[in-house]
Amino acid sequence: MRSSEPLEIAVMFWAGGDPAETISELTRLGIRSGQLGLPGDLDLTCAPQWRDALRVADFRVYTVFAAYNGESYADIPTVQRTVGFVPPSTRAERESRTLAASDFAAVIGATGIATHIGFVPESAEDPDYVAVREMVRRVCDHAARKHQTFALETGQEPAAVLLRFIEDVDRPNLGINFDPANMILYGTGDPIEALDILGPRVITVHCKDGDWPDPAQPGALGQERALGSGSVGIARFLGKLKEIGYRGPLPIEREASDPVRRMNDIRAGIQLLSELR
Ligand code: MG
Repeated sequence: MRSSEPLEIAVMFWAGGDPAETISELTRLGIRSGQLGLPGDLDLTCAPQWRDALRVADFRVYTVFAAYNGESYADIPTVQRTVGFVPPSTRAERESRTLAASDFAAVIGATGIATHIGFVPESAEDPDYVAVREMVRRVCDHAARKHQTFALETGQEPAAVLLRFIEDVDRPNLGINFDPANMILYGTGDPIEALDILGPRVITVHCKDGDWPDPAQPGALGQERALGSGSVGIARFLGKLKEIGYRGPLPIEREASDPVRRMNDIRAGIQLLSELR
């Protein structure tokens, strides 16, 4: 597989459409690598088609992201109830799905998997905390057998709480996909300061932007924005990444639902990162 340059500009994108067409849309933007999300309802037997399309295009996937059926990011209470490994009723099904995402990643040659595990309870005595910790250990061990890392998407808990959880899981292939916008969208804390705490654990990042939640609306999430037009401060973010010695890719994540707007914003994001990098 093609090796990538340090701080290579990349894109977080989703499987679902034709693999060759999806990749060609990105290569037309000058993008040669990225992170691939697997929607919860995607039939994962399409892995060989993805492997072949990536090979033909000489396109590298660093990370396979697992998402799950039944998740909703409508507001913070809904996220707490539906997202990741935390809801007990979907835990077993989502563990199987995460292991299947690791198998998919092995087929396409990705060296990492990642997911939002949800709002982990702060107390290490909480039964849900213990169950999620054990589940993360099993996922790490499965991924390790395939020479993969497992990255937890940041944003839903303060940096110190996340770091304590990672240390408690105690697996060498466990780390973080650091998303600075999520920390703002969830009102968790200043993302640049969080990097001082989490830096050594960062495997990959998302280049995403957003604004803080409206304090007049308790439980509401902040608003995701096009890269450079939110509250992250992308120049400051890149400066801090360099300061902590991060040399991995810079995948742009844009969640706008209108596909034309999304591609336009990604194009502008590529331009911005090219200037700042
Ligand atoms: Mg993200």
